[in-house]
Amino acid sequence: MDSFSLKQGLVLLAVAVTMARWVKERKEAHLKRRIQDGVKAKGYSVGIIGAGAGGVITAKKCMDLGIPFHIYEMAHDFGGTWLYNTCTSWAWFSPPPLPFM
Ligand SMILES: Cc1cc2nc3c(=O)[nH]c(=O)nc-3n(C[C@H](O)[C@H](O)[C@H](O)COP(=O)(O)OP(=O)(O)OC[C@H]3O[C@@H](n4cnc5c(N)ncnc54)[C@H](O)[C@@H]3O)c2cc1C
Repeated sequence: MDSFSLKQGLVLLAVAVTMARWVKERKEAHLKRRIQDGVKAKGYSVGIIGAGAGGVITAKKCMDLGIPFHIYEMAHDFGGTWLYNTCTSWAWFSPPPLPFM
């Protein structure tokens, strides 16, 4: 049997990567649809306690999935640790921008 040339190998790799990506996207879309259908059927909504980094990211995930949610925050604003942290010796340290902003 002839061995693969480099070009054939690269084409094969590109096809495999494209197929793997396609399968992954289909799986994610299927899961998203199942979650949305389940939420719609049962009338669920998500309660998120705290609007720190964890709460904000959970809210973003819910938005992406189309799941209704409520955030309950005891402070006057969101940010959690970043809202409470007023240590001046860390003034040089600014929080990184959130990935979706
Ligand atoms: C200077 C500094 C640098 C940092 N650097 C990094 C870093 O480089 N990488 C990293 O991964 N992490 C870092 N961290 C840590 C990171 O910022 C925190 O781990 C993260 O912000 C925690 O988020 P959280 O949502 O879990 O909790 P929190 O930010 O503590 O948010 C919890 C929220 O819940 C609210 N809450 C609590 N109880 C109730 C209740 N009963 N009802 C309603 N609301 C409630 C609080 O008011 C608060 O807003 C750093 C922290 C600091 C201070």
